[in-house]
Amino acid sequence: MKSHARSEALFEEARRYLPGGVDSPVRAFKAVGGTPPFIARGKGSRIWDADGNEYIDYVGSWGPLIAGHAHPDIVAALKASAEKGTSYGAPTELEVTLAKMVTGAIPSMEMVRFVNSGTEATMSALRLARAFTRREKIIKFDGGYHGHSDGLLVKGGSGLATLGIPDSPGVPAGYAQNTLVAPYNNLDAVSGILHDHHGEIAAIIVEPVAANMGLVLPQSGFLQGLRRVTAEHGALLIFDEVITGFRVAYGGAQEIYGVAPDLTCLGKIIGGGLPVGAYGGRREIMEMVAPSGPVYQAGTLSGNPLAMTAGIEMLKLLKKPGVYRQLEERTSRLVAGVKAAIAEYNVPGRVNSLASLLTLFFTDGAVTDYESAAKSDAKAFARFFHAMLDGGIYWPCAQFETAFVSLAHSPQDIETTIACVKAALKQSLA
Ligand code: PMP
Repeated sequence: MKSHARSEALFEEARRYLPGGVDSPVRAFKAVGGTPPFIARGKGSRIWDADGNEYIDYVGSWGPLIAGHAHPDIVAALKASAEKGTSYGAPTELEVTLAKMVTGAIPSMEMVRFVNSGTEATMSALRLARAFTRREKIIKFDGGYHGHSDGLLVKGGSGLATLGIPDSPGVPAGYAQNTLVAPYNNLDAVSGILHDHHGEIAAIIVEPVAANMGLVLPQSGFLQGLRRVTAEHGALLIFDEVITGFRVAYGGAQEIYGVAPDLTCLGKIIGGGLPVGAYGGRREIMEMVAPSGPVYQAGTLSGNPLAMTAGIEMLKLLKKPGVYRQLEERTSRLVAGVKAAIAEYNVPGRVNSLASLLTLFFTDGAVTDYESAAKSDAKAFARFFHAMLDGGIYWPCAQFETAFVSLAHSPQDIETTIACVKAALKQSLA
């Protein structure tokens, strides 16, 4: 057993000063129990905790670190950039460079506005969609996460589409009522809402590949169907590609599935590990954003030079030939190993994967929406998770999260991980 004495002491101290000891809830290990290792450093595929324990990391800061920790190109560029000052509150060439790279990669984004987080991106995109359509209601999907702004902290009931009920105290009910919820992959439910609320829906916001109920892929025709019905009803289609952007392909999920949304939200990878988000889309819509238009949205640190620098270096790395093939190959090998282990120990398990994303669900059935994802055995997952952690693998600490493979994972890392998955599944049977 590894020692976690230092992390335990730090967690105890942290809880005196930070609610739950953390600055973002999932980090506190509530879903799996135990003390989260406090991380002291990372390099490549590895992280080390405050007690000196080493882990192969499949969290990658929840998505941004597709090139691994402390990539030398990104670190060197950041050092040079920091020497020139960390923020000016004035325009820089770096913002133009990254904007050109992003709009070049994702043609539906004719213009882009950089912000500081995914939450800001989705919140601002919805404000813009409401202003553009002069409508107030939006549709999201059950189990879809789009950050923590008030109107998006709503998941509604599974099954039939329902009027939104806030998931968190502090969200005004009146506000949440403008958020309508449909089950993911259910186009009929979406059409029903659009019909019932004819002329009222400003936008549909969707993770084109859902990655916050574990990984759930869009079924054939689902995204195309959303494109069609939004166009028919004069609503905007917003793809939240905060996870999938530059992750599943250089051009995101919209490149893979061939569907162009009106607006796209980005985050994570485009900041290279620094705080960045972005929203963008059709020029006629984006030109409504202040100061070219009346829709207000601003930020003291938006387009921050360090964050832009890290993003530019990250996208340069990802533009190199063979990068996405390598990610895919490593992930396919891992997925095959996990599936073989499931079969060997005959545990109820399903793997959903795409590109460098994967989730192992502890359930027998196919996982196609939140309801089916929620059938997973959370206790078996928690046992599996802790066995992995003891074995030196830092797997995402909740069933409804996605594991992230990076360019830094070597073939040997993958084999070590598969061996640990086998041992952990065996233990999770207990
Ligand atoms: N959208 C999606 C799809 C996300 O996965 C997340 C965060 N995991 C967000 C939005 C919010 O991003 P942030 O945490 O940077 O505010």
